[in-house]
Amino acid sequence: TRGDIRASQIPRYVRVNTKFWTSDEAIAYFIKKGFSIGDPFQTSTSFAKDEHIPDLFLFAPQTSFQDDTAYTSGKVILQDKASCFPAFVLSPPANDKCLVIDATAAPGNKTSHLSAIMKGKGKILAFERDRKRFHTLKSMLSKAGCANVLPLNTDFLSIDPSDTTYASVTHILLDPSCSGSGIVNRLDHLLNAENDDDINDSDRLNKLAAFQLQMITHAMRFPSVQKIVYSTCSVHAIENERVVSSALNSDEASNMGFILAPREVVLPAWPRRGLPQEMEMSMLLFLCQHTY
Ligand code: SAM
Repeated sequence: TRGDIRASQIPRYVRVNTKFWTSDEAIAYFIKKGFSIGDPFQTSTSFAKDEHIPDLFLFAPQTSFQDDTAYTSGKVILQDKASCFPAFVLSPPANDKCLVIDATAAPGNKTSHLSAIMKGKGKILAFERDRKRFHTLKSMLSKAGCANVLPLNTDFLSIDPSDTTYASVTHILLDPSCSGSGIVNRLDHLLNAENDDDINDSDRLNKLAAFQLQMITHAMRFPSVQKIVYSTCSVHAIENERVVSSALNSDEASNMGFILAPREVVLPAWPRRGLPQEMEMSMLLFLCQHTY
């Protein structure tokens, strides 16, 4: 169950930034540093390839990379598996014409993942409305070598989808602000205090859900958009299944013909899906993530 997952049981995930080197080169580097391929839960110096996300590696939970030159130089990114799902599921094509929006980009882990998936081709417009977080985003993108990303200190909701600038946007990643209740350290906290006001406050959740819905319906208005991926770090149905359900029942969805992607095309091998009692949300993916 979701509640059984604790920080100490989650491996340290490391995503190889394929902008700078290949996974094979990274493996050789880790081996030279004294790691060996194996089960990171058996031996603290073992590491393994993730079975679902390319270029993602698992190390023992306590492994630290903060001072490792591969991390400080942007060659690896400390990014949990859950945080790698959205860009991988969106998977925009690596071609020069592809135009992508990351609507809520800072600190930029998913933007840099998108950039790597696109092999530096095409263009990503990365929106971030908060000024301070925008600066974090800019430095993250430059460290990660994301030359095909244009960071914009702009509120995504303030842009006009019918503006010709966005006429050829085909893919949108939406990872908006949320309660953060699915982040593991918070989840541990949740287990200790089931009715924690800060996390479960229904007014706050309702407001977040209304905002999240607004973001999705806004994304649906872009005339050429083919694929929208919505993600949260929340375990609450009100921010997940119910937001997606409302978005699918919106005028925008019917005007633009949006449907829920079938399970077969959204990481079919991933077993943990949405809450069955909520709706037929078989494409929703669940995985908890760390805070760093
Ligand atoms: N995708 C990011 C990553 O993986 O590194 C994390 C995004 S974080 C969950 C949500 C971000 O969206 C915050 O930095 C917040 O300031 C920003 N944000 C919220 N509403 C926004 C809006 N309307 N337009 C642009 N950015 C927004």
